[in-house]
Amino acid sequence: MNRRCAYCGERIELEDMCIDHVRPLAMGGRDTTDNMVCACWHCNQHKANKTVEEFRSELQQGPVMLFRESCTYRTMLRYNQVNETRRRIVFYFEKKDRERHVTKQQRKRRHRPYF
Ligand SMILES: [Zn+2]
Repeated sequence: MNRRCAYCGERIELEDMCIDHVRPLAMGGRDTTDNMVCACWHCNQHKANKTVEEFRSELQQGPVMLFRESCTYRTMLRYNQVNETRRRIVFYFEKKDRERHVTKQQRKRRHRPYF
């Protein structure tokens, strides 16, 4: 995944990568490479033992939770400092055009092994 988090797409250093089980082990997911992706610490922590769809649903609810719980958020909305798109979250590993996130420098290094 070009050293990017499979979920948010942020570039992550090797030492900061977490292995996430796409289908959680607690839900019968297997400890095999076809069920594993690299994720950043934040996404790994938030996804925890959720399925991909549960994780997406939780993220989609973020603005609703912020609106309910944060006076600052409601005020920032009132002053148009927040732009809620409510678009469906598409994870990095789901994007067909994820190659466009590859920088020029990464493109140069592409033919070299990572390790
Ligand atoms: Zn991430």
